[in-house]
Amino acid sequence: MSAPNLIIGVDIGGTKIAAGLISDNGDLKRSVVVPTLAEGGFKVSLKQVFAAIGGILSMDGINRRSVKGIGICAPGPLDPTRGIVFNPPNLPGWKNIDIVSRVKRKFKIDARLENDANAAAMAEMVWGAARGHKDIFYVTVSTGIGTGIIINEKIYHGKNGMAGEGGHMTINYDDKSAVCGCGQIGCVEALASGTYTENRLKEKLKRSPRRKTILRSMTGGDIDKITMRVIARAARKKDEFATQTIKEQGELLGVWVGGMISLLDPEIIVIGGGVSMIGELIFREIRKSAYCHTINIFAKKTPIVRAKLKKDSGIFGAASIFMRK
Ligand SMILES: [Zn+2]
Repeated sequence: MSAPNLIIGVDIGGTKIAAGLISDNGDLKRSVVVPTLAEGGFKVSLKQVFAAIGGILSMDGINRRSVKGIGICAPGPLDPTRGIVFNPPNLPGWKNIDIVSRVKRKFKIDARLENDANAAAMAEMVWGAARGHKDIFYVTVSTGIGTGIIINEKIYHGKNGMAGEGGHMTINYDDKSAVCGCGQIGCVEALASGTYTENRLKEKLKRSPRRKTILRSMTGGDIDKITMRVIARAARKKDEFATQTIKEQGELLGVWVGGMISLLDPEIIVIGGGVSMIGELIFREIRKSAYCHTINIFAKKTPIVRAKLKKDSGIFGAASIFMRK
């Protein structure tokens, strides 16, 4: 029997770069994490990318000939077909960088590039919650909202490689308080991501200092320390204000997910990211709202489930792009 193929997955983030060696059956064999040193500019952070990959290849017992590829995922905007990173806000100096050809040249191993949400969608299909499905809508809800669309086992890229930016669909253009990081008003990201939900809750509490909630005592009276994690904990303790906040967030996400079901009629919807850790408390609301806000008469048969790959999901995402064309 031949040895399994090995793939290196590299997840380039604004603060750290994680690389790992994964076998095609989804075993993470080795991994390293190095700081991105993004503030040092492109040359410094590229060196860190090389150091992470080199770190894996130089580990004991690694036969580089068994490594069939290096999958790279990075924040967008980027062009996966040409392997170019345009100018992500958290990677200063990375302007029109042909990262794929640089990595290929340096290591003499095939390489591919994908944006992080698309890669995470692929990993869920190959090794995670969407195994066995071909048409998948993937969502990650944490500081922002990222999405990935998989049609017939392939990532849908669109004409310029820019498709799948579902987090920037407007769900309320009237809400002038919901200004999104992208500059638009009322994107679902600006209304229902973890960061925006936290911020809105903090503002409400500051405006109503007498509102009853255990959130204040949970953070020693410092409202600014309230995070989604704290909100979820308070909701589990039946705090009404926290529960209401999560219900509203779930409902907003559901309105948008319902639209996605109308548009894509996917086999499964997988939701990952920090907010998905809240669990059934929010999934219940998302499902209820999504199934109401769609024209698809089969919507209730569309599972809306939690992502399976959590820890090292970036590495799995990057590696998974070598599992499919
Ligand atoms: Zn936006």
